[in-house]
Order: sequence, then structure tokens, then C-alpha cells
Amino acid sequence: MSNNLLTVAYIAASILFILSLGGLSNPETARRGNLYGIAGMVVALGATALSPQVTGYGVLAVSVIPAIWIGGLIATRAAMTSMPQLVGLLNGFGGLAAVLVGYASYLNPDASLVGIDFTIHKVEVFVGVFIGSITFIGSLIACGKLQGIVSSKAVLLPGRHLLNIGMLAAVIGLGYYYMTVGEAAGLLPLGIMTAIASMLGITLVIAIGGADMPVVISILNSYSGWGAAAAGFMLNNDLLIITGALVGSSGLILSYIMCQAMNRSFANVLLGGFGNTNYQGSTTTEGEATPVSVEETVDLLKDAASVVIVPGYGMAVAQAQHAVAEITQLLRDRGTQVRFGIHPVAGRLPGHMNVLLAEANVPYDIVLEMDEINDDFPSTDVVLVIGANDTVNPSALEDPNSPMAGMPVLEVWKSQAVVVLKRSLSAGYAGVANPLFYKENTSMLFGDARANVTAILSQLTQSSTASKSQEAVLATSR
Ligand code: NDP
Repeated sequence: MSNNLLTVAYIAASILFILSLGGLSNPETARRGNLYGIAGMVVALGATALSPQVTGYGVLAVSVIPAIWIGGLIATRAAMTSMPQLVGLLNGFGGLAAVLVGYASYLNPDASLVGIDFTIHKVEVFVGVFIGSITFIGSLIACGKLQGIVSSKAVLLPGRHLLNIGMLAAVIGLGYYYMTVGEAAGLLPLGIMTAIASMLGITLVIAIGGADMPVVISILNSYSGWGAAAAGFMLNNDLLIITGALVGSSGLILSYIMCQAMNRSFANVLLGGFGNTNYQGSTTTEGEATPVSVEETVDLLKDAASVVIVPGYGMAVAQAQHAVAEITQLLRDRGTQVRFGIHPVAGRLPGHMNVLLAEANVPYDIVLEMDEINDDFPSTDVVLVIGANDTVNPSALEDPNSPMAGMPVLEVWKSQAVVVLKRSLSAGYAGVANPLFYKENTSMLFGDARANVTAILSQLTQSSTASKSQEAVLATSR
């Protein structure tokens, strides 16, 4: 393939990636967005493989074919509930790729690079390996936190800010040394910097407490994009620069939006400086929770004129979304107003709940964001909280010592009645006890969300079939 054709293919792939991001911004166009992304990647891979620079097809086949097979296998087998960990891991691979490209291009530099070009190349290698190492190790820790291998609570090392600043200063010093020593001797400062950057990846991410993890995932996603862009500069590959910049900037925008949703400072997140630094709150709450039965819940729903359903991670674990969609349809058929309230960080992935509800064919127009529904709770008869916990925790607003203090939540307790479907009174991902369970207007429907939602559905179905046949009998007797 000629260089001109390669440029055209790279432009086409870039446009497809931009269209993909545009499509992914809305659930209705997300499928199309995904297809654009896949098409862009096929064009990018094909064009790169056919470019004049690629000659060793054996090596390419040995690395790319098993990678496609392993990637396909993992992606198709991963449960929806493990998607966040998978995304975290894939972010990490982006970082690892930047590290490997950095070392490869340091050990085997382009002979045509001389003078200022060579100096710039050395900077690119150093910066790329630095970002890549933080991203790789940080993503592994984040993945471990989401998988439950590493504690989801903030691990705060004594003097961690000083430690981080010290490591950053060491990286800058090593960078100066690396730039001034001869070519072969530069490998040592590069290696030490890689080790320090990896340590930074650990200290920055372990310090983040549970409820703040979504921002970490999106920021690491952004870092992986910048790592890829750095690799693009090292390889002189325009498509990699464009793609990396798209991932990096969209990740930054997403992190900013999530920071706003969680009332966190964007600057603190960028520097890894937030966490439960002075937590004095409790992880237990006093009082007695009121258990409720399926029958009582069904009665509440039948009497309600307006119902809001607040789903959370537990609905994803239980895979209860299809039964929830059927209950919604039944209640709407009875004339009840049913809407969904979605917290921006519900579940374990941005948009997690929206994806599940879309999969169950819940109409988009009744799925509302937190800001759109929060004012309506006082005029809502019944709220069904299905497997949500942190996102409906009043301590975020009522307890200034709570690790979640200041985070906006769905104010479900302001409605007439709340029924929480979960298995126990245990805390959510952030490990913070939830006073909602002990409020006077809250009842707990204990058990697996799917089992309980299915039981509610079958009782509602029976009662609507019974009332339909009663109506039919009345109509014939008239
Ligand atoms: P939480 O993680 O706070 O709580 C989920 C609840 O679901 C648990 O308390 C659990 O209680 C219950 N549950 C689990 N399995 C079942 C089941 N089979 N049936 C019924 N209930 C079940 O959920 P939220 O969605 O409210 O909050 C998300 C949390 O995750 C936030 O802290 C957020 O910051 C964090 N997070 C979000 C990410 C994102 O991008 N959205 C990424 C990383 C973290 P029990 O065991 O008693 O049943």
C-alpha cells in the first residue's frame, strides 16, 4: 500500500473513531457507535498491516492472531458484572503497550533521527514510559479493587503526599540525568524511573476510597489514551496520535463530568490527592429495620399512583432487569406512573444501569438522570430501590464525617414509602452504613433481587388477570 493510500485509510479510520464517540454518547445511537468503532479498528489494523513499514508478516501473525482470539474469548465470556474489571484491565494493557513501545524505540531508534529530532524522541520515550507505567500498575490495582482482591477501602500510607511528591521529584531528576548521559547509559535512569512510576501507580490508586473509584477508572482510561498518543509520537504514527488523543480527551471529559456528579474536585483527582483522609464516621448504624413481604410490597404498588424504581449494582448481579421491565409494563398498563431514577455512578461502570434497562427494552423516556428526578421524590408514592445502596445513602448529605459527604445521592427517603430490595443490611461498595434502611418510611424486602422481583411480577400478573376476568364477568352479566 502506498503512503498516500495509507494516509487516506488513516483519515477514514480517524473519522470512524470520531463518529463512534458521537454515537456512544446516547443509548439510542450506541449500537451504531460501536459499529463505527469496530469498522475504524478494522481499517486501522488492515492499513497498518499493509503499510510499507511492515515487512515481517510472520511476527505480526504470531502476535495479532492469538491476541484477537484471546480478546474475543475474554470479551464474550466476561459477565456483565465483571465488565468494569475488564475495562480496567484493558486500560492497563494500553499503558503496558506504551511502555513496551518506549523501550523498543529507545533500544532501536530510527537512524534518521539526529540533533533536535533525536532529543525530542528521547523526551517522548521518557514521557510515554512514565505515563504507561502509572497507567499499567494503577489499572491493575483498580482492577483488583473492583474484583475484591484488593480492599475497596482507601489505604492511606502515612506521609503519602510527601512520598508522592518525593517520587515525582526523583522522576524529574532522573529525566534530567537520562537526557544528559550517553545513549547506552540512559537505560539505567529509564529503568529506575519505570520502577518509581509503577510505585506511583500503586500509591495513587490504593489511596482512593470505594465510592470514588468510578473517577479513577475513567482517569486511568484517559491516561491510557495519552500513553497511546505518546507511543504514536515515538513511532511517528499519526493515527495512533489521533486515537490516543481522542481516548485521552474523552476520558478527561468523562472524569470531569463524574467529578461534578460526585461533587469532587477535578484537580485533586488528577493529582490522585483524594480519599478518606479524615474519616471518622461509622460503618454501622443503630436502629431497627422494618422487614416487608412480597405480598405487602405488591399491595403498596397496586395502591400507588406514582412509582420510581432506583436500580443499583445488585440489580446487575441478580440480572433482575427483565422482570423489572415486565413489572414496569404491568403497572403502566394499570395507569400507574412509573419512572426510573439513575445515579451517575450506579453499578460498576458509567452508564451500567442504562445499558441493562435498554437491554430489557425499558423505554428511554422514563429513564431519568438523578438531577431530573430528585425534586419529584416528595410527590412519589412508592420508591423501589433494587440492589442500590451507596447511591441512595442519606449520610452523604446528613453526616459531614461520612466518606461520601458532599456526594449528591438520590433522595428516595423523601417519598411516601421506600422498599429496598437486597439480601441484608450490609454496606455497599464504599463500605459505609446506610441510615436509609432504618428510616420510618423504609421497608426492607430481604432476599435475592431477581427472586423477589419475579415473585412481585407473578403476584401482580395474577391480580391483573383476576381483575380482567372479573371485569369480563361483570360485562357479560350486564
Ligand atoms: P452498591 O455497590 O452501593 O450496593 C449494591 C448492593 O446490592 C449491595 O449493598 C448488596 O447488598 C446488593 N446486592 C448484591 N447482590 C444482590 C442480589 N443478588 N440481590 C439483591 N441485592 C444484591 O450499589 P450502587 O449501585 O448503589 O452504588 C455503586 C457503587 O459502586 C458506588 O459506591 C460507586 O461509587 C461504586 N463504583 C461505581 C463505578 C461506576 O462506574 N458506576 C465504578 C466503581 C465503583 P446485599 O449484599 O445486602 O444484598
